[in-house]
Amino acid sequence: MVGVVVSHSETTDVPEGKLRAVEEVLDAQPLLSAADLELLRWAAEYYHHPVGQVFATALPLALREGRDRQPLQRFWEPTAAGQETLAGDTLRRAPRQKALLVHVAAHAGCDDAALDAAFDSWRSHARALVARGLLQSRQQPFESAAIPSLAASDAQAGTLPVLTPAQQRAVEQLTPAELQGAFLLDGVTGSGKTEVYMRVVSEVLSRGRAALILCPEIGLTPQLLERFERRFDTPVAALHSGLTDTERARAWRAAATGQARIVIGTRSAVFTPIPQLGLIVVDEEHDSSYKQQEGGFRYSARDLALLRGQRSGVPVVLGSATPSLESLHNVHLGRLAHIELPERAGSAVPPRVALIDMRAHPVHKGIATPLRHAIQRHLEAGAQVLLYLNRRGYAPTLLCQSCSWIAPCSSCDARLTVHQGRDRLACHHCGAEAPRPTRCPRCGYELHPLGHGTERVEETLAELFPDFAVERFDRDNLRQARQLEQAIERVHSGAARILVGTQMLTKGHHFPDVTLVGVLNADQSLFSTDFRAAERLAQTIVQVAGRAGRAERPGEVLIQTQYPEHPLLSTLLDGGYAGFTASALMERDAAHWPPFVRLAIVRASDLNPEGALEFLRAAKALLPSPTGVHLRGPVPAAMSKRADRYHAQLLVESAQRTRLQRFLAEWVPAVEAMAAPRSLRWALDVDPLEVL
Ligand SMILES: [Zn+2]
Ligand SMILES: [Zn+2]
Repeated sequence: MVGVVVSHSETTDVPEGKLRAVEEVLDAQPLLSAADLELLRWAAEYYHHPVGQVFATALPLALREGRDRQPLQRFWEPTAAGQETLAGDTLRRAPRQKALLVHVAAHAGCDDAALDAAFDSWRSHARALVARGLLQSRQQPFESAAIPSLAASDAQAGTLPVLTPAQQRAVEQLTPAELQGAFLLDGVTGSGKTEVYMRVVSEVLSRGRAALILCPEIGLTPQLLERFERRFDTPVAALHSGLTDTERARAWRAAATGQARIVIGTRSAVFTPIPQLGLIVVDEEHDSSYKQQEGGFRYSARDLALLRGQRSGVPVVLGSATPSLESLHNVHLGRLAHIELPERAGSAVPPRVALIDMRAHPVHKGIATPLRHAIQRHLEAGAQVLLYLNRRGYAPTLLCQSCSWIAPCSSCDARLTVHQGRDRLACHHCGAEAPRPTRCPRCGYELHPLGHGTERVEETLAELFPDFAVERFDRDNLRQARQLEQAIERVHSGAARILVGTQMLTKGHHFPDVTLVGVLNADQSLFSTDFRAAERLAQTIVQVAGRAGRAERPGEVLIQTQYPEHPLLSTLLDGGYAGFTASALMERDAAHWPPFVRLAIVRASDLNPEGALEFLRAAKALLPSPTGVHLRGPVPAAMSKRADRYHAQLLVESAQRTRLQRFLAEWVPAVEAMAAPRSLRWALDVDPLEVL
């Protein structure tokens, strides 16, 4: 077994027969500093999760399994006696030993490779010098010999872009020496947040410190990485899910040894040990991928980044064009300093945004006439068009028009999605697939796909605009990072003129020639039961709108909806994202939702339809809830049956974090000790993103 030694003690209550010796120490030096250990311990406590699993999240798999050990090398140095000998002429009769000793002393020590390069044969002379007590060797990690000089500079210092006045002010606010605290860099899409990060990182490097930059999953890492590598003359360590275990362990070591002064990574990179850390950036801080939502350890990398910065006195910059309501609330509370970049960099002008009332216009296969005309106009002007639809597959339903039978998933309370390309039906909740029936199993009549997914919209666009190539961005079409890169390349080269896709299209990619963005169906999230649905919809619309007209061409954004009078859409259109968040925060406050209260949720599931509810009822009854802490529920989940299991949840709520934490510290161990059927599973999620 590979374990992590976190401390040791001279005495123990554990009986001797139960103790095991450490057989071998795998690492020549501790992998984590005292401060790194503190952060992990704190995270285990706050999220009420076993500390061993927290360590497992923080350490690369290859290291946890004892693979990819730190390579060691032999390093030669003169002994004290050896140093004295150099002055006298003790080695007069052994000129080659003397030459070796002089060389080693002159270089302040050498490894084997350096001596191989300098001498034809040296090993027998080295042995003789060791026997005389003049030379000694020790094993040391390879990397520590190769740490580059701390003075890193902008590789392209002469050709840096000219900053806008707002960028200039942001850089000035973020670069004073000994800067501490947390900042929200609130910059509209295209305002040049990355350039601000790079200027601040440059300052940090010039002071001999290192920088950690966190970014959301998928696609973003290569672009950000490339920009930093092009700019800086220093090794950059990248930590993301596209790496093999060995690559990940190497990058982690490069960061942990100080060899890489810039570390760019996704969620779990927040735990990377970095000596001389001088800055943490969380780019696109609103992105939900910062919160681990599945598996055991459900932590928020953004929140832990803030904590890490606070504890180690390192400034933290949260950046976004659409900040989360949590962060805006923290600005109001004075916990985050607000830095705004209100204008796009360069000569780009903001896009014109308008709604299309789908009830008032003819709609052909999901595309209303005004949108169709706009697409035609933009394509004919030589530009590119982007259409966003948050629905994969061909159609969300397969319907019998005679008896209204709808293809259901047998394992979930859900309908099966039609996938035309694979000619299959698939469940987007449990992953089940089934062959596509040709006739209704109930009445034998013909079946028809109902509604539109990205696959069907792609088909419609090819039919409406046969002269313009369509590129589809979704998980079915672009399964690997390389396929995504190729698709982006076809857009950049101009080979593809129409882009249609899901969320994938809203994240960070730059498409300078896109001048029209169409949101095909904004209505899916307008009536969701999740309290965060409106916030996410507003962020998506603003982010996708931000793809339009990024260069010199003005952009246009058209949003199709059946509910143009919906308050979310009207505040967003009239007041922009700031107007939306102001009213959304008031609603959250009135309804007692985060960020005005603290939440934890226990989700349970069982094969038995009542099992999860019964378990949660019993858990709720374990302790009387203290003043200021409320347990709400349990209730069945919005989609109760999922993958043959029945889901339910119990909310724990308090206006004060400390009260909630104190209650959980007492209650969670009691829940853990409860007897439960073997088939029952449950998990605690502190600060959950979804309460569906
Ligand atoms: Zn039928
Ligand atoms: Zn299913």
